[in-house]
Amino acid sequence: MNGAGKITASHRARNALVYVRQSTSGQLRRHTESTARQYGLAGQARALGWPESAIVVVDADLGVSGRYGSVRAGFADLVSRVCLGEVGAILGLEVSRLARSSAEFTRLLELARLTGTLLIDTDGVYDIGDVNDRMLLGLKGTMSEAELHLLAGRLHGAKLAAAQRGDLRFPLPIGYVLDSDGQYLIDPDEEIRAAVADVFTCFAQAGSAYRVVGEFTDRKFPLRAYGGAWAGQVRWGRLSHARVCDILANPCYAGTYVYGRSYQEYKVTPDGGVRSARRYRPREQWPLVIHDHHEGYIGWQQFLANEAKLQANRTRKGGRPAREGHALLQGIIVCGGCGIRMAPSYRDQRYSSYQCAEARREAKVTARCRTIATSVVDDAVSELVLATINPGQIKLALKAADEVARRHTRSHRAAELAAERAQYEADRAERAFMQVEPENRLVARTLEKRWETKLAALVEAEAALATARDARPELPERSSLLALAGDLPALWASPDIEYRDRKRLLRTLIADVTIIPTSEKDVVTIGVRWQTGATDQITVGRPGPGRTPAEALEFIAARSATTRDAALAAQLNAAGLTTGRGRPFDAAAVHRARNAAGLRAPWSASACHDGEITIAELSAKLGITRSAVYDWIKAGKLEAHQTPAGRWHIIWDQAVEARCRDMIAASVRLGRRHRSAHSACDGEITAPDLGARLGVNTTVVLDWVHAGKLAAHQTAAGRWHVVWDEAVEARCRDMIASSVRLAPKERGGAGACDGELSIRQLTIRLGIGRGTVLAWIHAGKLAAHQTAVGYWRIPFDESVEARCREWIAASPRLARRQRTQQTSEGGAV
Ligand SMILES: [Zn+2]
Repeated sequence: MNGAGKITASHRARNALVYVRQSTSGQLRRHTESTARQYGLAGQARALGWPESAIVVVDADLGVSGRYGSVRAGFADLVSRVCLGEVGAILGLEVSRLARSSAEFTRLLELARLTGTLLIDTDGVYDIGDVNDRMLLGLKGTMSEAELHLLAGRLHGAKLAAAQRGDLRFPLPIGYVLDSDGQYLIDPDEEIRAAVADVFTCFAQAGSAYRVVGEFTDRKFPLRAYGGAWAGQVRWGRLSHARVCDILANPCYAGTYVYGRSYQEYKVTPDGGVRSARRYRPREQWPLVIHDHHEGYIGWQQFLANEAKLQANRTRKGGRPAREGHALLQGIIVCGGCGIRMAPSYRDQRYSSYQCAEARREAKVTARCRTIATSVVDDAVSELVLATINPGQIKLALKAADEVARRHTRSHRAAELAAERAQYEADRAERAFMQVEPENRLVARTLEKRWETKLAALVEAEAALATARDARPELPERSSLLALAGDLPALWASPDIEYRDRKRLLRTLIADVTIIPTSEKDVVTIGVRWQTGATDQITVGRPGPGRTPAEALEFIAARSATTRDAALAAQLNAAGLTTGRGRPFDAAAVHRARNAAGLRAPWSASACHDGEITIAELSAKLGITRSAVYDWIKAGKLEAHQTPAGRWHIIWDQAVEARCRDMIAASVRLGRRHRSAHSACDGEITAPDLGARLGVNTTVVLDWVHAGKLAAHQTAAGRWHVVWDEAVEARCRDMIASSVRLAPKERGGAGACDGELSIRQLTIRLGIGRGTVLAWIHAGKLAAHQTAVGYWRIPFDESVEARCREWIAASPRLARRQRTQQTSEGGAV
């Protein structure tokens, strides 16, 4: 080999790397010779003296392009190995094309020079450290780049010329095939043709790609595989949204030949890498367009209409397609105040409104912006539309009916075609099986299995067809449709018509609707711009809260302070009054009207309704506490309800009053206040009265009663009545006099003789507790004697006092108590 002498023992001591690459998987499949040659380089490395163990084949980049933007793990591995200095030589079929970007190639050369790595190709061995070799390689690299450019240019020129003639062929979209002359042909397979055509028909009616997907949920859609194991075969699968969009955006279906719809875009990432992506040019920038190139599924005008519709459906690009909500003018209503589209806001099933939501988000709301109930505008505009399209109504209804019929037939037809196809395939499998020689058992078995599979598919397809036939809904009679069509308003209001369809009908007629600001609060002026360019203006009343008819409002004002909302609503309805919308009143409507007019609710007024009473009133009336009334309510003994403000209203009449009084009488606790009003019978006295009369505690009296010293009886309420006359009184006073504890004369007496102190006097004098004094007495520290009625008397003089103070000083507890007392007294002074 040329320059084999440059290989030294040092190179052989390191690895020989064989770099194997093919640009695409297609090359890999077709150019097997080249791949084999590349692998053959390992043999050359052996011939040049590398041991088998030192030869490394790097083939991770098979099928990966060498240009910018592709990630080549093998090449990166090769570079890192060179950097580590473990590579003696790199072998490639054509070393100058190791990398198709000269930047990568130059870098590899530089690294090889620094690490003393040789480069070897079929032409010879290059030592990068040698300036001649380096220049040679550099030249080869430049040449290959130029060659690439010339080749690409020549190829591109040829390609462009073919494209300009409309002869350049691309993989065809499903629904088209190439005939033997290479001309485009609509797929002769009727099932595929029907499926593709249905996509366009569905889109024309539904107006949204998602709806087309929805129509195809139970149906399979064909896809032709290009390349790979399934190349050229038709597979049946799910129709995805992306595929629907692709089909609708593909001009091929409109019979138009286009070259250059997409291009490759390169981007340098911040980390210096290069990424490529396929970009689509907008239609206006397509470089080459040939109309009527082949037969189309749709016309060019239809293609443009579909494109516009898809564009209008893109909400992120400002499109506002018709949605499912009941606000009919969604997407086409504009606020005249801020000039921005209004959005429907759905509060519940019944109420929704158009609001300047977008203006609010962008802080562009003006004082003239108004929120308006959708029903006000929708009703007015619908009425206008119905009045306007009156002459064409029958035609429209019939067209709608035909459409429904066609839709049914289509789904039915798809199932029929599938069944036909299954039948055909089963027949074919059967024929193939019949033709095989019986001796050829293995083949026969395979064919038999295939026939069985096809038969199973046939059964499935027939079942699907039966289901489709069964599921086919009953079509209304054409005559009844005619009758219905005679009354478009009824059709319009029919619950079977989807809001979306109504909206789409509206949009075919109306371009947009503007709420024109007015100074009047009770009316709304609506400007309608028709698709024809004509305009209309309608003014309608604006009913709702705050717009209750004056008569009804007067009625409410007269009664709202005394009558609850529900009752008031009933009265209003009985009087034949209605809300601002002409509907009967309910409690909520009365509430809203009252709020809007600033009328007080009954619970905020002082009075209760007739036949009701508040807790405060009841407690005053019965002479019991409020808490007793609460208890009754909580125990369910009283019927009451709570107002929204939390006030209790008790249902009240004579029967309830009588029941309450019974409850009071039966309760010991509650009865007291009442019974004190009634004195005991003649010749009797109540225990508290007797106590008061004798100047003793009630408990003393009760003790006497329990001890049998007094004749008494208990009332039903548990009260003691004592039999009373003068003799009894005299006996009582005797008992008091004979009792040490009760004797009044002793109790009131100031007490002590001279030189003696009572316990109380002593405690005050010394500032100590009664218990302490008694403890001293009982301990014998303090001399004392008891009076006849049991009072302690303490002989007291200065010496006794001094002794007491000593004891106090000796006791930390007492001393502390004295100190705190003095402090607090001092503070008080
Ligand atoms: Zn506005």
